[in-house]
Amino acid sequence: MHDANHSAADHDGQGLSAPDGQRRPLVALAVGLLACFCLLLGGLQGWSAWHAYEAEREDSRVATANMARALATHAETSIRLGDAVLTEMVERVEHDGLGEAATARLTGRLRAITHDMGELHGLFVYGPDGKWLTSSLPRPMQGNNFDREYFQFHLLHSGRGTHVGVPVRSRSTGVWILPLSRRLEAPDGSFAGVVLATLNLAWFGRFYDSFDVGENGTILFALDNGTLIYRRPFHDDQVGMDIRNGTIWQQIQRDGQAGSIVATPRIDNVERLYSYRHLVGYPLFVASGQATDEILSGWRRTTVQTAILGAAAMLLLACGGVILVRQIRVRERLERDLVRVGVSLRRHNASLQNLADSDALTGLANRRLFEDRLVREYERARRNGAPFALILADVDHFKQYNDRYGHPAGDECLRKVAGAIESGARRPGDLAARYGGEEFAIILADTDLTGANAVADTIRAAVVDLDLRHADNPTGRVTLSMGLYVGHPALAERDDPLAWVDVADRLLYEAKDAGRNRVVSREGHEAAA
Ligand code: GH3
Ligand code: MG
Ligand code: MG
Repeated sequence: MHDANHSAADHDGQGLSAPDGQRRPLVALAVGLLACFCLLLGGLQGWSAWHAYEAEREDSRVATANMARALATHAETSIRLGDAVLTEMVERVEHDGLGEAATARLTGRLRAITHDMGELHGLFVYGPDGKWLTSSLPRPMQGNNFDREYFQFHLLHSGRGTHVGVPVRSRSTGVWILPLSRRLEAPDGSFAGVVLATLNLAWFGRFYDSFDVGENGTILFALDNGTLIYRRPFHDDQVGMDIRNGTIWQQIQRDGQAGSIVATPRIDNVERLYSYRHLVGYPLFVASGQATDEILSGWRRTTVQTAILGAAAMLLLACGGVILVRQIRVRERLERDLVRVGVSLRRHNASLQNLADSDALTGLANRRLFEDRLVREYERARRNGAPFALILADVDHFKQYNDRYGHPAGDECLRKVAGAIESGARRPGDLAARYGGEEFAIILADTDLTGANAVADTIRAAVVDLDLRHADNPTGRVTLSMGLYVGHPALAERDDPLAWVDVADRLLYEAKDAGRNRVVSREGHEAAA
């Protein structure tokens, strides 16, 4: 086969085939990206839900802590007020005594004080035997309070400070009261009785009920010794209850002054966030609690809503992803088909090109390709300053060969001669072509006169060696005559590569004239020369 330059054929299976190799990564990339996006979305939602949860709890901690502060201040003020009144009562009784006139004056004063102050339920003076001596009540009272906890306390303790007693139901009015009391002493320091101020728990109740703690919220008011004074919602049977087993009381014992805690009291089994605070100067504490369910209900609703929206977004993304991956696969299939079609197209083109460039009988390059190559090699030789050889070869007395042996034998002879020519011009820059009929042309690029003569003679000898019988040729066998021209395009004044064929043709005829089966060669630089 001739040395046709079919560069397209060199690319078979390359070029467009790249997407086939990238198919997996592209699908994996799309799936990976979508998965990352879903993870990010989920993570973002989780993070913001957690953040909102923390914020909600912190808000409610602050709210309950503020409430506890307000409750503590309120209780302190009320108790301090009762305390001030008691101090004045002790001073009066011990200084003025309880003669008739002094008692009348004191009674009037006590009534005036309780009348003005709603939180004060009553003010009482008891003798050393527990007997009622006077009070703020409008009518005289029978009975003896010797058995009361506060009375026993002062009887047994010589301290002069205010004692906060356990809450009791008043014997005089039947309402729940918190007793504040101080010891009375005779000038010799002996026990002389007790002054008592009672705080109305209903007054505290009204204040506590004014706070919004939600449906399941609570407010506590209790003594350090674990005695419950008041709890919202109020129940009679809870007053005076022992809460030392409760988490709140235990926490306050550990923690001291103020703080917050989540606890589920046995009393109603509702989990709450509690804030507690100890009163300054009195053995009491308050606590306010909000049910965690209620604190988080808004958060829960929002979280569920955003989770549903997030899930919907992810579902949409997933659907989009499936469609995308399918589209990618379809596109890749098309690309693969395209590549296949392209490859076979290039193969077809290559063989068509081959056909277009070949001579059908001998398989050598045809005249068209020869002329193309001639121009190209000529240009190249001119640029490189290299010599350039052109051989025209013609079978001797071929007409007679045809006439004697027939046309098919002539064709067979031409094929064999072509084989001999091709095997003589095998270098990469060589091109053997059928120029027409029984004429052949050979281009030897970059070859000087000596080299070209050697090639031409080798070919000539190869044809002789074919030993094809030709009775009408004086040598008795098929022979070849050749005209060889070696030129230097770089030195030529006129660029006309095709004119070089004429020069070779003239030399060929010189060879014919000189007796055939020979090479006539010349070197020059001008085709016309
Ligand atoms: P010369 O030695 O001077 O070249 O004599 P010749 O007979 O070879 O010269 P001529 O050019 O007159 O004859 C060429 C002949 O080659 C004519 C034709 O019969 C024959 N021929 C040309 N092409 C073909 C072909 O394709 N097949 C065959 N069998 N014969 C061909
Ligand atoms: Mg001829
Ligand atoms: Mg001939």
